Amino acid sequence: MIAEKLISDIYQSLKLPLIGVITASIAFFSLFYDHVNNAALTIWFLSVLTITLFRYTTMVKFHKDRSLFTTEKWHQIFSLGVVLSAVSWGFVPILFFAESNYLYQMIIIIIMTGISAGALSSLSHLYKNIQLFLLISLIPLILELLIQETSFYNNIAILAILFLILLLYIAKKFNRNYTDAADSLAQYKIKKFELMQSEQKFETIFRYVPIGVFFYNTDLIIQEANQEFLDFIEAPRDYIIGLDMNTLKDKVILPTLRASIEGLSGFYEGEYTTNYTGKSIWISMNTNPLKASNEEVIGGVGIVSDITQRINQQKDIEHKANYDSLTDLPNRTNILNDINREITRFKRHEIIFGIIFLDLDHFKNINDSLGHSVGDKLLIEATARFKDSTREEDIIGRIGGDEFVVILPDLSKDEKEAMLKAEIVAEKIHKIFENPFKIDGHRLNISLSIGIALISKNEQLAEDVLKHADIAMYQSKKDGRNTTRFYQKYMELRAKRYLEIENELRNAIAKNEMEIYYQPIIEIATSRIIGAEALLRWKNKKLGQISPDEFIPIAEESGLIFNIGRWVLINAIQQFMQWQRKFNKITMLNKIAVNVSVKQFNNPEFLGQIEQIIKQTEIEPHNLEFELTESIIVKNAKEVKKKMKKLREFGINLSIDDFGTGYSSLSYLKKLPFTTLKIDKSFTQDIQYDADDKDLINTILAIAKNFNLEVIVEGVETYEQYKFVNEKNATYIQGFYCSKPLDKNSFEDMLQKNKGICTKLVSQK
Ligand code: C2E
Ligand code: CA
Ligand code: CA
Repeated sequence: MIAEKLISDIYQSLKLPLIGVITASIAFFSLFYDHVNNAALTIWFLSVLTITLFRYTTMVKFHKDRSLFTTEKWHQIFSLGVVLSAVSWGFVPILFFAESNYLYQMIIIIIMTGISAGALSSLSHLYKNIQLFLLISLIPLILELLIQETSFYNNIAILAILFLILLLYIAKKFNRNYTDAADSLAQYKIKKFELMQSEQKFETIFRYVPIGVFFYNTDLIIQEANQEFLDFIEAPRDYIIGLDMNTLKDKVILPTLRASIEGLSGFYEGEYTTNYTGKSIWISMNTNPLKASNEEVIGGVGIVSDITQRINQQKDIEHKANYDSLTDLPNRTNILNDINREITRFKRHEIIFGIIFLDLDHFKNINDSLGHSVGDKLLIEATARFKDSTREEDIIGRIGGDEFVVILPDLSKDEKEAMLKAEIVAEKIHKIFENPFKIDGHRLNISLSIGIALISKNEQLAEDVLKHADIAMYQSKKDGRNTTRFYQKYMELRAKRYLEIENELRNAIAKNEMEIYYQPIIEIATSRIIGAEALLRWKNKKLGQISPDEFIPIAEESGLIFNIGRWVLINAIQQFMQWQRKFNKITMLNKIAVNVSVKQFNNPEFLGQIEQIIKQTEIEPHNLEFELTESIIVKNAKEVKKKMKKLREFGINLSIDDFGTGYSSLSYLKKLPFTTLKIDKSFTQDIQYDADDKDLINTILAIAKNFNLEVIVEGVETYEQYKFVNEKNATYIQGFYCSKPLDKNSFEDMLQKNKGICTKLVSQK
């Protein structure tokens, strides 16, 4: 296979030899004319001219359009030209040597050696061609010299042979040099191409990587930087290239830059203020030494990325973990950390710090009735007010829905003074909350329940201090809200007991720990037991007998009252109906009174529940009486009225329990459909000592009559009380005088034995 390059090389260098051949042949023709056979000389000269013309035209054709033939063909044509040219010169000694004189013979020898030497340089690309040329052109001359049979000619022949051998050897060498050169040129070109490609690749990477790259020399002067680098550093190229980084305003990165100059890798991650714009950003930077081929460090390469966004996201996440999103106040975790820090400080300096626990009163109502957006705005407004009423160094946090905390650091070394100071802050907060909030056109009067705990010597845990403040806050809720309480030990015991009761109460019914006692209700006129009030009893394995006065409020607050109440209702009704059937001959039982707590009554499912129980037990509804306390009237009067009316429609009687203890105005008596009024035992019990109470009972009885209500006097314990009540024409009594509340068996026995009569009353008549 002949290389493309070789062919173009040989055609390229053909021109000069052709000129040489023409010149030589013209000189030869003119020199030898008239000295040899002129006809032969002319024919020879013309054929040389023809051959040269042929070679010349192929050369021109090649240059014009080398696609005319294949490379192989072009080579063959070229070789043909060489052979023809060699043959033409080979004919010179054959044709003209013998008939020439000595001088012309020498000229022939000189021309022949000159021609072949000349060919050497021009044909060295192709060893085969030069071989052919030399052999074809010189062998006839050598043969001619040998034919002469004189030792002089023979010696010249030997010289010519040596010359031929020498030329062949040189040709070989020339050729090798040429091919070597051609090879290395080709190699060089390939290498150059590859290098260019890799340079291009590097260039592409350098230019387009989404990361800043810059090069600098050992003097920390920037030599080159890519666009990305310029973009995020926000500086023009002119400014950056040539910048001496020793003069940077922000020097934090200098050690990292210098590391590479010392042959090391450097790394920096952190804040950096850019030199040109002075903007503060976060960067991550790697530096590495830049080495020459002899391993000498000639500078460094820096790779930088702007990680501001990542850091901001990280900060965001951290912020979210530590701050409440609505108010941007520190959250519970954060506050606990702060308290821990204060505890550590307290241990060192013994300066008491305090924690104020704040809870908005009835916040849930606002959320439920006006929507969460109003609720949220209220919390934000409240936050602003907390800030207004505290010092700069006080820490405010939001630790739950409507629960806030203020940490008051450095109150005093003296406990009394510390208390006083904390109380002043609490008062300030109460005061500032006296102004109504105006949110979305609503005027909201919001009060706070506040609990305060001060750090004491044996406290170590942040959770405990916070819990104490919480307990104290809870106490102020219990004490009627809108007030402040300091944490005291008993509160905690109470809170603990509360939790215990709540826990045990959950399973009380399932564990069969509940029992209903019944207390007779007696008609004074006839001394007959006409009914009973169902009173719940609870005996727990762990806690023992627990009074309903203690567990009922807990059942109410925890919502457990709804299920417990249903259980009481069903069981009391069923028991009552059983007795009604059993004793219908001897007594006239027509009332089972069941206590219904406010929470239970307000439950939206209450009416449905009652309807279902009536159906299930088949009780005559007018035998059923619900005892409701006055506290039911306080809120949502319309809603309460609707429900009560509905119950009345069923036929159920409704009594006001503990009448006279609620301090409420009596106007509700007119509006609400009560049927019965139960005078609280506290009035009854004071009858014999207190004239005022006597008057009060008189008044109540008059009112009852006026409103057409039946009256049950509760808590009648003594004959005197009974006598007084009797004189006042009250209708019914209930109390220890006739009977304590009894369990179902005892109640039944009592009915049986006394034939449905309160024997005490009979014996006194
Ligand atoms: P209450 O509704 O006022 O019940 C009357 C309370 O007075 C009962 O206390 C009863 O034992 C007591 N008592 C009756 N006669 C006399 C007397 O002559 N002198 C004195 N000193 N006390 C008398 P008890 O059974 O301890 O119940 C306390 C409260 O617990 C009840 O007061 C009632 O509010 C609540 N309660 C009891 N059972 C239930 C229930 O099933 N549901 C609800 N919601 N509350 C209940
Ligand atoms: Ca009652
Ligand atoms: Ca009562």
